Amino acid sequence: MSLTANDAMIEIRPSAHPASAEERAARMTNPGFGRIFTDHMVVVPYVEGKGWGKGVLKAYGPIEMDPAASVLHYGQAIFEGFKAYKQPDGSIASFRPDANSRRFNASAARLAMPELPEEIFIGAAKALISQDKAWVPGAVGESLYMRPLMIATEAALGVRPSNEYLFVLLASPSGAYFPAGVKPVTVWISDDYVRAAPGGTGFAKCAGNYAASLVAQRQAKEEGCDQVVWLDAIQREYIEEMGGMNIFFVYQEKGETVVVTPELTGTLLPGITRDSLLQLAREQGFRAEERKISVAEWKSAIAEGRMTEAFACGTAAVITPVGHVKSRRGNWDINKGETGPVAAKLREALLNLQHGLAPDTHGWMTKIV
Ligand SMILES: *Cc1c(COP(=O)(O)O)cnc(C)c1O
Repeated sequence: MSLTANDAMIEIRPSAHPASAEERAARMTNPGFGRIFTDHMVVVPYVEGKGWGKGVLKAYGPIEMDPAASVLHYGQAIFEGFKAYKQPDGSIASFRPDANSRRFNASAARLAMPELPEEIFIGAAKALISQDKAWVPGAVGESLYMRPLMIATEAALGVRPSNEYLFVLLASPSGAYFPAGVKPVTVWISDDYVRAAPGGTGFAKCAGNYAASLVAQRQAKEEGCDQVVWLDAIQREYIEEMGGMNIFFVYQEKGETVVVTPELTGTLLPGITRDSLLQLAREQGFRAEERKISVAEWKSAIAEGRMTEAFACGTAAVITPVGHVKSRRGNWDINKGETGPVAAKLREALLNLQHGLAPDTHGWMTKIV
């Protein structure tokens, strides 16, 4: 047992049984997304009145919990997702982890959970990535996906915010989200279910939002679609998101390319990819707008040829073009079901930045090791 000095003062207790180099190589072949995990994880406990305790990096494995732990009953659970990338000089850097730390705390505040200091959030990531650096894949499109989460662990059945929490950080080597290349998806506009309502938890990355979305995702599958498109809860007309990703539309207006994404209303999840693409789009010479977009506008802009592309974006899959739209209000194709040039250009710009193949003019990359 050793206490290694690091920013977050995390005790480093290396696993007694790390995977051998051969085992690791075998597991990292076609890792897919979120199916394999590295040798270690970080846990940090919190007790009301005492604050955050000492973090420990230890062997990846099950977490023991009392069956009365309030997360299992009332669902105080939040998470994040960001990635670490191998850089051309052999170092490892992660993309905007400070933004994920801030959003984690915004989610925590909405669920009446304690905020986690950024030094612990980033420090835990540095400790885990450094320890498990052999698990960071190297090819463009590959990365080490970092999954921080916080759950309420107090054993108490009264309905109130828990007095005890656990922060956990795990890491999962991930391959190209689409091994066969980027393929446009078919989406189902959900008229039966909503993801988030004003005053609710739409802007928070909480587990419950995902639980509530699964039945709609299943319906989309039954309709022959890959993903669900969410509408606003009140008018059921304005487009909010696609599955667990933000969505963009590309217009051609008077010779100008305009990239439009739904404005943040409190019911949308403020994606870090979304924010990054708004900035990159402007640098690529496109006009970028945040505003409301209705289903009626989507349909007519396609029919009139004013809209040329639509794509979704998020950390896991980067950019996913939308090729076909199905709904009770009609079906339509976008760009003949093919990936468009704007989606392809933005995707390349973002991936080049993340993999260190383009200069980091925004200060978005944090060197880890
Ligand atoms: C995480 C998430 C996103 C994408 O956010 P990124 O920071 O870009 O990964 C979009 N929508 C929902 C509902 C999400 O949970």
